[in-house]
Amino acid sequence: MLFLDRRREGRSGLSRVLRAAALAAGIAIPATLTYTLTREHAQALADAEQRAANTARTLAQHAERTFETVDTYLRAVSSLVGAREVGVPTQALHAALREQFARTRLTNIMVIDRDGQSIVEAVAFPPRPLDVHDRDYFQALRDHSSSGLVVGQPITGRLSNKLLLPVARRIDNPDGSFAGVVQALIDPEAFRGVYDGIDNGPDSAVSLWRVDGTMLVRAPWAPEMIGRNYATGSNYRLHVPIRDERPFWSPATTDAIERVFAFGFLDGYPIYVSAAIARASALAGWHKSAVAQGGVAGGLTAVLVTALLLLARELERRQTADERTRASEARLRASEERLALALDAGSDGLWDCDLATGAAWSSDRWWRMLGYEPGELGSHAHTWRVLLHPEDAPHAERALTEHLEGRAAAYECEHRLRRKDGGWAWVLTRGRVVARGLDGAPLRFVGTQIDISARKAAEGQIAHMARHDALTDLPNRALFQERLAHKLAEVHRYGGSCAVMSLDLDKFKLVNDTLGHPAGDALLREVAERLRSALRVEDTVARLGGDEFAVLLAGADEPVSVGLLAEHLIAAVRAPFPFGDQRMEVGLSVGTALAPIHGLDGEALFKRADLALYRAKAEGRNTHRVYEAAMDEAAAERRTLECDLHRAIEGGELTLHYQPQVTTEGGELVGFEALVRWRHPERGLLPPGAFISLAEETGLILPLGEWVLRAACREAARWERPLKVAVNLSPRQFQQADLPERVLAVLTETSLSPTRLELEVTESVLINDKARALGILRRLKAFGVSISMDDFGTGYSSLATLQAFPFDRIKIDRSFVGNVEESPQAAAIVRAVLGLGRSLGMGVVAEGVETTAQMRFLVSEACDEVQGYLVGKPQPIERFADAVRTGAIAASSGAATAA
Ligand code: C2E
Ligand code: CA
Ligand code: CA
Repeated sequence: MLFLDRRREGRSGLSRVLRAAALAAGIAIPATLTYTLTREHAQALADAEQRAANTARTLAQHAERTFETVDTYLRAVSSLVGAREVGVPTQALHAALREQFARTRLTNIMVIDRDGQSIVEAVAFPPRPLDVHDRDYFQALRDHSSSGLVVGQPITGRLSNKLLLPVARRIDNPDGSFAGVVQALIDPEAFRGVYDGIDNGPDSAVSLWRVDGTMLVRAPWAPEMIGRNYATGSNYRLHVPIRDERPFWSPATTDAIERVFAFGFLDGYPIYVSAAIARASALAGWHKSAVAQGGVAGGLTAVLVTALLLLARELERRQTADERTRASEARLRASEERLALALDAGSDGLWDCDLATGAAWSSDRWWRMLGYEPGELGSHAHTWRVLLHPEDAPHAERALTEHLEGRAAAYECEHRLRRKDGGWAWVLTRGRVVARGLDGAPLRFVGTQIDISARKAAEGQIAHMARHDALTDLPNRALFQERLAHKLAEVHRYGGSCAVMSLDLDKFKLVNDTLGHPAGDALLREVAERLRSALRVEDTVARLGGDEFAVLLAGADEPVSVGLLAEHLIAAVRAPFPFGDQRMEVGLSVGTALAPIHGLDGEALFKRADLALYRAKAEGRNTHRVYEAAMDEAAAERRTLECDLHRAIEGGELTLHYQPQVTTEGGELVGFEALVRWRHPERGLLPPGAFISLAEETGLILPLGEWVLRAACREAARWERPLKVAVNLSPRQFQQADLPERVLAVLTETSLSPTRLELEVTESVLINDKARALGILRRLKAFGVSISMDDFGTGYSSLATLQAFPFDRIKIDRSFVGNVEESPQAAAIVRAVLGLGRSLGMGVVAEGVETTAQMRFLVSEACDEVQGYLVGKPQPIERFADAVRTGAIAASSGAATAA
């Protein structure tokens, strides 16, 4: 007990370890993933910052070159104009402008005088009137002599109706006074062409700004934002005045989307560029990989955790199962401990397949489980198939397809793989597709592999025990039926034959009862061994329970050879068994049914073999019978009879015949034996031999016996003379503990004196539970009822029985009495029994006296009383009306019939 408890503790400890491992895996993998993803997340954001800064710097350089170019032209024009008298629109100046303009992608270049009026332009001559005196750039240039290139508020072009960017330079008179401005209109398309090509993801933007916070160009294009001033926003205030080019995160002023911003400032021009990348866009790549990684890790975690938990549960389940099969514990202990060890010591083998390429990885443990060096057979997704046991292939492939095609949530399969040493390892493989393509095709498949060889061995042991008899190790009923079904299917499909033999030991019960159960067990084991060695390997002998065995003969073409084999089996079992210094002897009865002649249905065949056995037993011990159709009829007849008997007892179909018993000396009537008869409505008057054994088997003997007792007592109570009435009691009636009370109740009910009732019992009553039977007999005798021993000489321990209980009378069986003339032995036995009765003080009745010669013998041997056809056959009591009245048997009623 102590040992068991400790073991249980150890086992639940192991399953606790497994559960802890599951928990650890469940935490560690997500934790590692979280750590990785957090780092990658930060990296993604840092990358976005870098990208924003790079974008801004690049675009600033681009803008700088653009403005530099424009500025070069404007400077050129400015110096050209300043050298002359501004205000004189000349053809020559227009031509010069046009020449400059032609090299640019500017919309126009024009010269404005000190009052803001256009005096010359590149695209037209004479110039179209234009007044810019109120424009911001004009005023700035007019008021500040030191101004370099000035960028004006975007304006809508008069001709193109497009937003245009004016850029201008001051023209100084040679004396340094303000002469006017030279201005160009830049089409923002020049920037947008570049800006639109920048792809920083959705909600990202790049813009061109004037240093005062006015937006000049934006991609994506947003005309409503152009020209507006954003100098009040924090982005501007915190970064632009100090020309801060470091990236920063901020919700945009215009919408609430968070972006990383970076500014790029132009050297020498009042312009800067901004690049903004939305946070979501920054993290898009990370997100995608996070989902993939999360899926992989999640899948792996799920597989691992599930595997560990299943393992733990399996262990716990096994533990409960163990407690139920405690009987098998001793034999299983060794393999179970190996199992526990295996589970404990070795972690699972892991594998990971890329189904697209067929590449695979298996952990070292995976390989070592099979006795290989890691990677010894290469790393291909199909390696396991090469090792798969052919018998396991179909179901393994089925399970795999189910999962790969998405019909099963996971792949799980127990199968064998060939070990390097050529043996087979049982493994439990679990896996799951952790990545699928857009079309659902599995891409990546990961899983575990556990060595379950030890568990399988234990299961094999259990399976063996489930199909074999523990005492003899012969196949049990279940396995027998399985083999029979298999064999019959084979006969059905391919022809051939087989035979079912039903075997039953004779007198086994006696061995058990007299020598005890250990002797009985030893005998059964020996019988099993003898049967086994009498058969061929292809035959099956099974123990069905108790002393019943069955044999399946693989081939039974010749009924003769089947008969010979049966004889052989009987002879083998019949030979005495030494047991200590004693010898045990049993017999064997065999019934055989043949397939296909007697059918191809296992159950029916078995039943027929049983019918044949039943017949064999009925016809004497140590015999063999082959099934015949008539046996079925007999069985059917028995079934109908059983039904009828029910009705008979209740419906008054039973009746009693009475057979007189007289003294040898003087032929004085002593009493009658009541013998039951059945007036069957179809079959006529049936003798007890036709239905008593059936009544005993079905238990109907109890109501039948009680009916007989009551009827006999009631009849006897009517007689004028105090004659005795003898009633037969079946052994079954002795299983009723209240039998004496029942008898007393009937006596009271019928007002018959107990001294007039004699109960006849056979010694089989005393075989089963001697003490109890003796108790009942004593109580009956205590009431004043007499007890006689019926059929004396036919049982086996008659003498012992006689000594155990003081019977009132002994009835010598008619088989001896009937033979006294021919057989000296029979005469000797009768003589001995008479002597025995005298010495024990018991009266003796000779049964079955048919002839006067027998009568003479009995008279000469001083037998007290006789009963038999010579005196009177059993008949309805009316036939004995005179005898009952006078106390003497009339010659006509008995002796006459016998003659
Ligand atoms: P049993 O108790 O030995 O009964 C005597 C049997 O021997 C009777 O057969 C009777 O007809 C037969 N018999 C009597 N004299 C002669 C003779 O001179 N020659 C021959 N050849 N036979 C003779 P029965 O009536 O057929 O009864 C057979 C057995 O059935 C009885 O054997 C008894 O064991 C059983 N039986 C009969 N009635 C009852 C009953 O009411 N209850 C129980 N439990 N068993 C009964
Ligand atoms: Ca009797
Ligand atoms: Ca008898």
